[in-house]
Amino acid sequence: MTIDLVDAVPVRLGTKGERGRKRLDVGDGFRSERHPILNVVMLITEECNLRCDYCYIRKQPRTMSQAIARRSAGFLFEHAPPPPAALSITFFGGEPLLEPGLIELVHAEATALAAGQDRPVAFSMTSNATLLSAANVEMIERLGISVRLSLDGIGDAHDRHRRTRAGRGSFALIARHLERAAALPSVSVRLTVSPETAVDLPGSIAWLGERGFRSISFSPVIEAAWSEDDLAHLYAALGELHRMQAEWPGVRIGSLARTGQALESSGERWGCGAARSFVAVDAEGYLYPCHRFVGYFRNGPGQRVGHVDRGFDVDAREQYIVANHSSSHAGCGHGLFRDDIGAEERRCGNCSLLSVCGSNCMAVNEYMTGDPTVPPPINRVLAQIEAAASLQSSGAHGSHFDPCRTPAVEGDQ
Ligand code: SF4
Ligand code: SF4
Repeated sequence: MTIDLVDAVPVRLGTKGERGRKRLDVGDGFRSERHPILNVVMLITEECNLRCDYCYIRKQPRTMSQAIARRSAGFLFEHAPPPPAALSITFFGGEPLLEPGLIELVHAEATALAAGQDRPVAFSMTSNATLLSAANVEMIERLGISVRLSLDGIGDAHDRHRRTRAGRGSFALIARHLERAAALPSVSVRLTVSPETAVDLPGSIAWLGERGFRSISFSPVIEAAWSEDDLAHLYAALGELHRMQAEWPGVRIGSLARTGQALESSGERWGCGAARSFVAVDAEGYLYPCHRFVGYFRNGPGQRVGHVDRGFDVDAREQYIVANHSSSHAGCGHGLFRDDIGAEERRCGNCSLLSVCGSNCMAVNEYMTGDPTVPPPINRVLAQIEAAASLQSSGAHGSHFDPCRTPAVEGDQ
């Protein structure tokens, strides 16, 4: 299998909202009642103490009321499959550690509900790592919260985009907490990779690994303008990471955990759990298919799928459940297909790049093309780069709830 990166690169890299959503047929398998939810992602505050320039979440001083926070936990248990199915809650923001009191409150509420239903509930959090004080770390450990730290890299690589409200770099703010954070029982780091910092990726991961972090993943800023040179840097960085991973089995570089064998397999599948097995709740209690929809569409009404007080908007939710399945996804015209797949069948569900392609991200699709089932060209460019670098790799995913990496098989709820 060869991948022609030269052919892949000269494409238009962003076409925000040019098309518009089409109405999808909702078959039996996509009905709302067939899809209980297992997780809620709670934007307990939409305020943040940083101003990362690529962040898709609108910073606004809105914080959940205690009533909405409790209702969000209750909503999960009311729409869950019967016990003993395990549930989970993810604290998201903004920066969730700005509101430790709400975290305690939701944890207490959900723990009581879980005890009443005789089922387990787990908790996770995404944080920018600036507020990992001794008191907050004590709370995280006491409540058993799995933490994902969102960084860009080390030193200047982090400071380039992740700045304080005053415009200063924020690495110094997190550096003093990293040793304490690395000792948490369940912690991972997710590096956001921008065109300017792709070159720093191997060095940043090596630095974190040497300081005790054992689960590190990375994700390119898909909305950024990637030049041919930037993409070449990313490709070189991925090659270097594969070499590091082979020599450093104690550190799991999560985004490399997709094998050449997986690349060979295609077939229709679910993209992620958005709208299907989890939903996001914004600070005012509105439900969205996932956290990205909240930010990309500025808490707008067009992407809502309900409210925690009023329940699901079943029709809106079912449209996203259908959109989440690869059978709904238009192929980009540049995927990798078996020879016997005809032109009319060249959809994402038949593409060998599906497992590494972002084509199933409804949020990115709708944001960049106006249709959750139509992937933008940058998806397949990044997929081709990742595939080229991944074909020889192997590994396993971490245990942190990752909305974008929920099991891609039917019947997993
Ligand atoms: S968008 Fe991705 S999965 Fe779909 S056909 Fe193109 S490369 Fe394949
Ligand atoms: S893959 Fe996209 S749609 Fe799915 S949870 Fe992640 S951001 Fe949302």
